[in-house]
Amino acid sequence: MTSAAGDTPGRTPVTTRPTDGSCSHWIGARRRYCWAREGVRPYIPGHRCPAHTPAALRGLPEPPDNPSPLLNKESA
Ligand SMILES: [Zn+2]
Repeated sequence: MTSAAGDTPGRTPVTTRPTDGSCSHWIGARRRYCWAREGVRPYIPGHRCPAHTPAALRGLPEPPDNPSPLLNKESA
């Protein structure tokens, strides 16, 4: 452990938009990106964990049979 807090090289801060496949949903209340890695899938706006898919954010159920969300051309 180093004593330098919050500025460790090679480690992306949670306020930076994830580009490694983690959930890139911005959690406004926490002023950070989600960064979840579990169950993340690519959507039109970016990678999303199950809690932050376009459908989940609109309070809609996930399409049960949608192998390719990128082809689901709903406006986001
Ligand atoms: Zn998320």
